[in-house]
Amino acid sequence: NADMAVYQAKTSGRATYHFYDGEMGRRFARNVRIETRLRQAISKENLELHFQPKVDLVTERCVGMEALLRWNDEELGSVSPAEFVPIAEQTGIIIPLGDWVFEQAFKHILEWQELGIIVPPIAVNCSAAQLKRVDFLPKLLALLDKYKIDPSLLEIEVTESILIEDAVGCAELLRQISRLGMKLAIDDFGTGYSSLSYLKDLPFHYVKIDQVFIRNIIEDTKHEALTHAIISMSHDLGLKVIAEGITNADQLQMLKAFGCDIGQGYLFSKALGANTMSRDPMIVALNEQGLE
Ligand code: C2E
Ligand code: MG
Ligand code: MG
Ligand code: MG
Repeated sequence: NADMAVYQAKTSGRATYHFYDGEMGRRFARNVRIETRLRQAISKENLELHFQPKVDLVTERCVGMEALLRWNDEELGSVSPAEFVPIAEQTGIIIPLGDWVFEQAFKHILEWQELGIIVPPIAVNCSAAQLKRVDFLPKLLALLDKYKIDPSLLEIEVTESILIEDAVGCAELLRQISRLGMKLAIDDFGTGYSSLSYLKDLPFHYVKIDQVFIRNIIEDTKHEALTHAIISMSHDLGLKVIAEGITNADQLQMLKAFGCDIGQGYLFSKALGANTMSRDPMIVALNEQGLE
């Protein structure tokens, strides 16, 4: 019986090990494929930017849009940025990809303006690897100049990972960005090693509360308490708060009661293709009423 137990432990141990190994192998193979395909995707034009409206929770009017990458590969099908952006970050592809995102966003802004559409500020997500490059700001300024885009039309969303790696270097860059008139948002707040003390010293304008909190805000009193605390502390520090991932009226009502300023989520709108923009009710309303 003792032998039997050892035998079982060994086989089950081995079986687990093999399963894990196989899973890791498949993961690795897919990542390599994503990397290879992504390198070609930029030139092959099967990347796209979509835009998700941001809504003022008091007036329910559109006050901005977030640019989000969409990739539809001939072989892999549609791949989520939640999967390919981390791979782009690890492999350095994020640098040309990030340049493409800025340029594409500016092209769309220009096209909309030429169509006479009122364009609200556009938020672009930026990875730590991009901001760490010394040529980040010169490249960005050259692009803004090329497309004659007013920097105040641009918001930059960063996650706190950048602050942990190089808080001092980052602070200087963020101050420069802010001085040029661009707005700064800290994304996915509450998930990483976020600390409100970062916000005290850095020139952020917006705190974006991560979707996990909003998703559970009704059912889970801890998420409710954290959301409430983030909102009041951010306000005390002079920052506006954006809630991500609002999907129902109960969440909206609670966030309004907590004084949350801005919301994003499927309740209002998912991210829209650039050419459907002018027909979107939110953008139509914005154009009828004008920017605030
Ligand atoms: P993020 O910046 O936090 O963007 C919010 C994500 O939540 C987007 O996912 C958006 O489509 C999704 N979302 C919005 N409202 C709802 C909702 O009501 N319910 C649910 N379930 N989801 C909602 P997406 O587009 O898949 O992007 C995932 C992440 O990929 C982004 O998170 C961002 O970190 C990254 N990403 C996307 N585009 C870019 C980019 O151009 N550059 C960089 N560096 N990262 C990007
Ligand atoms: Mg974002
Ligand atoms: Mg986020
Ligand atoms: Mg995110």
